[in-house]
Amino acid sequence: MTATLIDGKGIAQEVRAEVRAEIEAWCGAGMPRPGLATILVGDDPASAVYVGGKQKASAEVGIEGSSYELPADSTSEEVERLICELGDDSRVSGILLQLPTPEHIDGAHLTTLIDPSKDVDGLTPVSAGLLAKGLPGLRPATPAGVMELLRRHDVPLTGSEAVVVGRSDLVGKPVAALLLAQHATVTICHSRTRELPEVCRRADLLVAAVGRPQMIRGDWIKPGATVIDVGINRTPDGLAGDVAFEEAVQRAGLITPVPGGVGPMTIAMLLRNTLEAARAQAGEAAPDLAVKT
Ligand code: NDP
Repeated sequence: MTATLIDGKGIAQEVRAEVRAEIEAWCGAGMPRPGLATILVGDDPASAVYVGGKQKASAEVGIEGSSYELPADSTSEEVERLICELGDDSRVSGILLQLPTPEHIDGAHLTTLIDPSKDVDGLTPVSAGLLAKGLPGLRPATPAGVMELLRRHDVPLTGSEAVVVGRSDLVGKPVAALLLAQHATVTICHSRTRELPEVCRRADLLVAAVGRPQMIRGDWIKPGATVIDVGINRTPDGLAGDVAFEEAVQRAGLITPVPGGVGPMTIAMLLRNTLEAARAQAGEAAPDLAVKT
């Protein structure tokens, strides 16, 4: 068997085009243009590229971008003040603090200060709590992107065996919560899981979010399973996922490549979150991006 590839790049373009059309209609109806404020502290070149990409993508769909670049020697109090000001600014629908921050600044703590209604990264404790309780809220962009890929491929989730390898707050836990909300039977694995290959072999849907190149081997995959590879690992041979793709593609039914799978979905879902946040702030239905039961 050779798996069908999930074209994350193409699906991300579709999502962006939909967000763009929805923003045009929204603003055409006289509603305020959604705004995304990004905060970058310090001069890490990779972070600057990520923030630049998010701002460019925002502009392309009609989101009003504002980019705040603070020097590396900024204090926590200065960043905190900016986060609070942006929370009070009605032109700003979404706030994104680019991580990692310089060492003397606790980025994880500062993230908790973002107004939950503007938490377009979905990383505040309030957003995590809403997700855990199955309540509407802003969902982390990469996990929301995983769900969007599954939805657009009509992958049946109700009653399916889903195995998520990785339990980070950023990917593994929220993906597991989103799958659970869709009635999958979810197993979360991590570095202490025993007999990992055996557990993976049970999966109708296997999500890898580990950060170890090609760790998941082909014979860990149940024939015909759906395999979602969130991993992005830089290797001497270029980018690699957490799944040994050449082996996995012979066993899976549906699989994401790396690059071009989950990766492009993150920015697309960030844009959707920004629009949903603007809608919720304007009194429209609360954002409910992936938990539909
Ligand atoms: P973390 O390092 O935060 O988490 C990795 C998880 O993998 C941990 O839960 C860890 O277990 C688990 N793990 C590590 N080694 C093993 C092992 N040998 N067996 C089983 N589990 C193991 O990573 P992230 O969740 O942030 O990211 C995961 C991957 O996804 C990375 O490659 C990252 O680059 C990528 N990523 C891609 C994004 C995108 O596509 N846009 C966005 C975010 C991440 P334990 O908890 O026990 O330590």
